[in-house]
Amino acid sequence: MTAPGDIPPVHVIGGGLAGSEAAWQVAHAGVPVVLHEMRPVRGTEAHLTDRLAELVCSNSFRSDDAENNAVGLLHEEMRRCGSLIMQAADRHKLPAGGALAVDRNGFAEAVEAALVAEPLVEIRREEIAGLPPDEWDSVVVATGPLTAPSLAKAVQNLTGEDSLAFFDAIAPIVHRETIDMDKAWFQSRYDKKGPGGGDADYINCPLGKEQYIAFIKALLEGEKGEFKEWETSTPYFEGCLPIEVMASRGIDTLRYGPMKPVGLTDKRTGNRPYAVVQLRQDNALGTLYNIVGFQTKLKHGEQVRIFRMIPGLEGAEFARLGGLHRNTFLNSPQLLDERLRLKAMPRLRFAGQITGVEGYVESAAIGLLAGRFAAAERRGETSSAPPPTTALGALLAHITSGADARSFQPMNINFGLFPPLADGIVTRANRGERKPLTSRRALADLAEWLGAARAAAE
Ligand SMILES: Cc1cc2nc3c(=O)[nH]c(=O)nc-3n(C[C@H](O)[C@H](O)[C@H](O)COP(=O)(O)OP(=O)(O)OC[C@H]3O[C@@H](n4cnc5c(N)ncnc54)[C@H](O)[C@@H]3O)c2cc1C
Repeated sequence: MTAPGDIPPVHVIGGGLAGSEAAWQVAHAGVPVVLHEMRPVRGTEAHLTDRLAELVCSNSFRSDDAENNAVGLLHEEMRRCGSLIMQAADRHKLPAGGALAVDRNGFAEAVEAALVAEPLVEIRREEIAGLPPDEWDSVVVATGPLTAPSLAKAVQNLTGEDSLAFFDAIAPIVHRETIDMDKAWFQSRYDKKGPGGGDADYINCPLGKEQYIAFIKALLEGEKGEFKEWETSTPYFEGCLPIEVMASRGIDTLRYGPMKPVGLTDKRTGNRPYAVVQLRQDNALGTLYNIVGFQTKLKHGEQVRIFRMIPGLEGAEFARLGGLHRNTFLNSPQLLDERLRLKAMPRLRFAGQITGVEGYVESAAIGLLAGRFAAAERRGETSSAPPPTTALGALLAHITSGADARSFQPMNINFGLFPPLADGIVTRANRGERKPLTSRRALADLAEWLGAARAAAE
């Protein structure tokens, strides 16, 4: 067997949630790793300290319920994969009901101390400006939503102008099964066939005049989140205005914009509706639909209240709510292979928020996978992706192939990303148990995947 000293290192750029986890996973597979973190040499607009794995905003890892919540399931799967981020979070958790909240200082100190104490990890405090040197033949880029400009520019030159976004404009995403199809109907505008589909690709929700006016009023009065100065100064902002800003420009602005009814016929009345809300398929499984053009800075509770005013969406459950933030992310479904390597330059692997996942836990989860894939490659082992029935696998499959590259926007883990349970598993008697059944299937499949990975490493 090759001694670690004879194996060239994997280079990880960025010591945030994803990079710290990736470095840990590489080292724990017996492969040396150099972790390059630019703070404190150069800061970002959001980080306040020079700690690795600093939490830039909330101190919550969200629900820790592994049976009924997809992010709780992701926590559990990461624990079973030996995650450093989860170890530190569990050690520094604070009382927060069913959520996993952490003492942010204790958490970041624990992550950093573990990496400093790990003999196979070398930490270098430096900015990697531009593409990494050619001789680094295995690199994990985990530089996050606030990637330093010179590296972002170099990646953009490599991938193309439109393939790296500097702003996310997330429209709310709805679980398909919660849309009332007695009110809504499938139709494409003018029944026109699109490049990738048929002539009835959109779900349409009709609004009458009074419903439209009440909806605009609710948008204008709804409570909104603030933009940070450095968010409004990002040049991409005008191109993707929040729906409430459009509404404020005139009562009919939305009716001539994303809510225009032209080319659509309400099947129940045979008439063109006064206004329409359209939803477009968001994943290959067809379980999720996004509300077209509805990026918004409305607070989350307000979004649920106001969007449920739309006929057909009264009982909508949201896989994720809308948002608009400064971000840096790749069009991963187009650019990355199933092991997170850049197709145009496979020595570069990407991890974390820059791959188009959203959130601390999801970022760390993709770091975990990138680290495992990089280490297996270095050791000459064949690695396999976790099955799509697991939370890790569902998230990976979504960003590398399942999501629609034409409208790709960052995504949280949610049960809509999992393949449906096999026929016959959900019965009339256990219908309410769909989530626990999905979670049980995930943990069983994860155990099998981990067993196969262990066998490959022996
Ligand atoms: C303002 C803001 C608030 C957020 N709030 C939340 C929240 O409350 N909850 C949540 O779940 N998610 C939140 N997110 C989203 C996301 O989950 C976090 O940004 C998360 O930290 C992403 O993890 P990451 O490892 O991909 O990036 P980061 O944790 O940001 O790590 C990237 C690291 O790379 C370093 N770096 C960048 N460029 C270079 C370079 N060229 N050379 C060397 N080092 C470099 C940075 O200094 C940083 O340490 C927020 C994002 C932002 C921007």
